[in-house]
Amino acid sequence: MAFDSLTEKLQNVFKNLRSKGRLTEEDVKAALKEVKMALLEADVNFKVVKGFIKDVQERAIGQDVMNGLNPGQMVIKIVNEELVSLMGAETTEIQLQPGSAATVIMMAGLQGAGKTTTTAKLAGKFKLKGKKPLLVACDVYRPAAIKQLQINGEKQGVEVFSMGDKVKPADIARAAMEHGAKNGNNIIILDTAGRLHIDEDMMTELQEIKEAVTVHQTILVVDAMTGQDAVNVAGSFHEKIGIDGVIVTKLDGDTRGGAALSIKAVTGRPILYVGMGEKLSDLEQFYPDRMASRILG
Ligand code: GDP
Repeated sequence: MAFDSLTEKLQNVFKNLRSKGRLTEEDVKAALKEVKMALLEADVNFKVVKGFIKDVQERAIGQDVMNGLNPGQMVIKIVNEELVSLMGAETTEIQLQPGSAATVIMMAGLQGAGKTTTTAKLAGKFKLKGKKPLLVACDVYRPAAIKQLQINGEKQGVEVFSMGDKVKPADIARAAMEHGAKNGNNIIILDTAGRLHIDEDMMTELQEIKEAVTVHQTILVVDAMTGQDAVNVAGSFHEKIGIDGVIVTKLDGDTRGGAALSIKAVTGRPILYVGMGEKLSDLEQFYPDRMASRILG
């Protein structure tokens, strides 16, 4: 499960704090040093860790905490609150267009991040909310990706729009708008092509799609298991094409949690959902407070 090793380390630090009646400034500093190490080992971005520890320390060494009835517990509470704030404080919903207007969502991400799977998972969520999504196969470089989207779309009972692999993604997106309008689709999700690494062609292609059609939400899919790479990828995508939110996949297999903890602080963009497994139902809305409780164990 995600965060296992981080949780274990933090629990040890906190057990120590709780066992002490009164706390000295040195006690708090020593405990926070251990929290810092645990976060760095969890692959949380270095700058994020520094800022986090500074914020917690400023609050924890205040008179109210040190002279309080249960200072250890207070420090833990502060760590919890700062973790929630680090991850964006509130749950962020995907912004939909008002009324019956269709919302166009472009999914982006590197190959293997889980983009195609997540696209289908997301369509299922919208369907449950009574929407009529259309999935659009814009990944024309991997014929397997089109097939995969079709199979997953069928499983979700959602229509997939494809023009094969000989048409340019921007033209497919344009045609999909017409199709969606005729068909009464109120959510149109574009599954775009990834590459193994950030590259100019991929960014250009995404820009071309954005020029061809009005994209209301650009959602980046990153793999939690890649840790700080996922954070750097998010930074690059945001700089080049502008993203509205991030979906972090494979959190089920990530024992460290660094990506989930750093993305909001580094990119300024919130995590919307997290992928918790390979099944199409394994997508959970992201609640910073629940995630913080999960981390603290
Ligand atoms: P794409 O290249 O970005 O479109 O990636 P795919 O959607 O093809 O996914 C790559 C692999 O990751 C597939 O085997 C998926 O089943 C798997 N995958 C996607 N999301 C998750 C997740 O949240 N948890 C786990 N364990 N596997 C996932």
